Amino acid sequence: MEDLRLEVAKANWALPKAGLVTMHSGNASGYDPDNDVLYIKPSGMDYDQITPENLVAVRVSDGKVLTEGIRPSVDLPHHLFLYRRIEGLRGVIHTHSNYATAFAAVGKPVPLCLTAIADEFGAEIPCAPYIDNEGEHIGEAILKYRNRAPSILMGNHGVFAWGNSPKSAVKAAVMTEDVAKTVWLAMQIGEPKPIPAEEAEKWYDRYHNRYGQ
Ligand SMILES: [Zn+2]
Repeated sequence: MEDLRLEVAKANWALPKAGLVTMHSGNASGYDPDNDVLYIKPSGMDYDQITPENLVAVRVSDGKVLTEGIRPSVDLPHHLFLYRRIEGLRGVIHTHSNYATAFAAVGKPVPLCLTAIADEFGAEIPCAPYIDNEGEHIGEAILKYRNRAPSILMGNHGVFAWGNSPKSAVKAAVMTEDVAKTVWLAMQIGEPKPIPAEEAEKWYDRYHNRYGQ
């Protein structure tokens, strides 16, 4: 359990370092299903004030905040919803990172036009329509509009990214911003050319099944 606190702190520290968040925006969490607990960034806290110890512990089965005297991120309901509904999920990140959120502002997905997108996401990064943040609306929209990519753009809002650890969620959030930036640059000089689905499949398969040590 202590290791997960450290992992979640590291995931939060990574967000400003990677330029994905400004001031208090954004948040990262991690989930320990064996102990029915998640750890999440405290609400409105500066990233350099976050420590493994001051993360907020929340019981996932009923949403009870276990840490006294400190409020969790206001995005807690969306994190809880995703951990309860997506099998194997262990890390969730929310950002308003600039390039990805620019696509969200105009309601456009990040098109599958780069091998890096085929590798990492295996599909376009979808964009859900605008949705308010009442109750489980955001979580429900993520389930409805996501594809196999480990992130999604929420229209007029920002990015949710996830993975099988807080660290892999960071990677998905960083890669989402990186490819959104490249595609945005491409759009300044022409129309991005889509990669055919069968070609994208080859890249995705190689990256997910044969790449790395
Ligand atoms: Zn937000």
